Amino acid sequence: MSTPLILPPGISKDKFAAYLDAARAAVGADNVEVITGPHQFTKDDYMDPAKEHDMYPVFDKDYFVSSAVVCPRNVQEVQALMRISNEHKVPVWPFSIGRNIGYGGAAPRVPGSVGIDMGRHMNRVLEVNEADAYCLLEPGVTFQGLYDHLVANGLEDKLWIDVPDLGGGSVIGNTIERGVGYSPYGDHFMMHCGMEIVLPNGELVRTGMGALPEPGATGAPDQQQPNRCWQLFNYGFGPYHDGIFSQSNYGIVTKMGLWLMPNPGGYQAYSITFEREQDLPAIVETIRQLRITMVIQNVATIRSLLLDAAVLGDKQSFFPGVTRPLNDTELDEIQSKLGLGRWIFYGALYGPQPVRDALWGAIHGAFSQIPGAKFFLHEDDKRSPGVLDIRAKTMRGVPTFDELKWVDWVPNGAHFFFSPIAEVRGEAATRQFQITKKRLLEHGFDVIVDFIIGMREMHHIVCVVYDRTRPEERARALTVVRQLIDECAANGWGEYRTHLALMDQIAGTYSFNDGALMRLSERIKDTLDPNGILAPGKNGVWPRGYDKDKWQL
Ligand code: ADP
Repeated sequence: MSTPLILPPGISKDKFAAYLDAARAAVGADNVEVITGPHQFTKDDYMDPAKEHDMYPVFDKDYFVSSAVVCPRNVQEVQALMRISNEHKVPVWPFSIGRNIGYGGAAPRVPGSVGIDMGRHMNRVLEVNEADAYCLLEPGVTFQGLYDHLVANGLEDKLWIDVPDLGGGSVIGNTIERGVGYSPYGDHFMMHCGMEIVLPNGELVRTGMGALPEPGATGAPDQQQPNRCWQLFNYGFGPYHDGIFSQSNYGIVTKMGLWLMPNPGGYQAYSITFEREQDLPAIVETIRQLRITMVIQNVATIRSLLLDAAVLGDKQSFFPGVTRPLNDTELDEIQSKLGLGRWIFYGALYGPQPVRDALWGAIHGAFSQIPGAKFFLHEDDKRSPGVLDIRAKTMRGVPTFDELKWVDWVPNGAHFFFSPIAEVRGEAATRQFQITKKRLLEHGFDVIVDFIIGMREMHHIVCVVYDRTRPEERARALTVVRQLIDECAANGWGEYRTHLALMDQIAGTYSFNDGALMRLSERIKDTLDPNGILAPGKNGVWPRGYDKDKWQL
């Protein structure tokens, strides 16, 4: 069968069949799957993710769907696919693993695009350099896969990785989406070094020092021994391009270098609980001063009570029969039952004992100023097993999957992230939290949030958890986030990343000088991809061949 459920826009059945023939000739028939109907939407589990549709749909399941999924076996096949796609004017949507849940998974922005599954075959750790503490990866390497590789080579104690909340995503996918983790190396894009990219016209580029040939290197460009400094110095010479290949539709990343953290010589995870919702501004002010001076060494988090509670049980287990948002009395009950706070701060200390002692002294002293703060070192925590056990692994760079549980807070749980950036100020945190809380409660959702503290900003991660089988609830989830986007933009806050359904709205909020940034992005798009075949509409960037007003959702 060559007729998909959804054809790419403007492509007839015959043209699509011709495209498929060319794709099969390029990558082998076994590596081309046509998506002919919903009977193929069999996967909706993070551990075995769907490759053709959004497992956590916000529209109907059959909206964000690929026409086919093609799995190139090597870089040259990716190049061939780009040439074929240009020839046939078929849009493609690359993904590495498709565990980008809450943001659309593997699904394309334009229904009927051809998914390019970069991870199925290209999943090798190409190099781990112990002396210089870096690795070079292909798109299919997951955080868990990288960790396993270090274990298999006896290196997991020497070199630490940085992991996001869940360990199953692609390291490349997460990094180029500018995802975060929680160790001192938590800003993944900051820690990448060197990329290899297939441009929309099929040309292969290595950025930074990778553009300088290694003496004696021979063979096809993708297989050439890379320059020995590729993973050591990000910038090379001339314009620095890596940023435009993140959250973009300008190229397909086929290799990426990433710095690993040498074992710091000691580690101590801790948490601090705070009794009252009103403690938030004091917590945030304290964190800013400690984080900006690097007394807090890692990307630390302030989690709301219900985020932790949801990892430990679903809503029914706490309050059987209650479907409305929980009230303050119920939150108090959960708080005392679990020995948690309204807010729980998770951090870790890195370094030999005297270093850790000095840092802990400063951190303990500063947070002790907040009445009711309670301190837990991981090893002494009597509440174990609990969330600190999980975070202790995460902040040490050991991948886990336990945080998947909070999605089951409601039956058939799925989630949708709303992720605005804010200044690390008590007043900003309070205002952003109040706006969010009000809207979530109005729309019938519990307040499940997390503040992730970077070097000079916070990612406020709002988790809208809904029952994916109930269209009315899905619609409400979308409505509340749409309102929050506008309300936050009116306060000067924008999101760092988003779901396919909201890319245009958020791109529209970055409107300084009559949308000058978007005009620049569109000019780059049209120059690099004149046929508009690579991920049209990603992050709101539409090629000139698309009437973007018609594509708004
Ligand atoms: P993960 O499984 O790591 O969470 P995905 O593989 O789903 O992430 O990728 C998330 C998004 O990042 C994709 O939808 C796509 O837009 C982009 N992306 C992922 N891998 C690549 C790649 N190799 N080249 C270009 N874009 C990519």
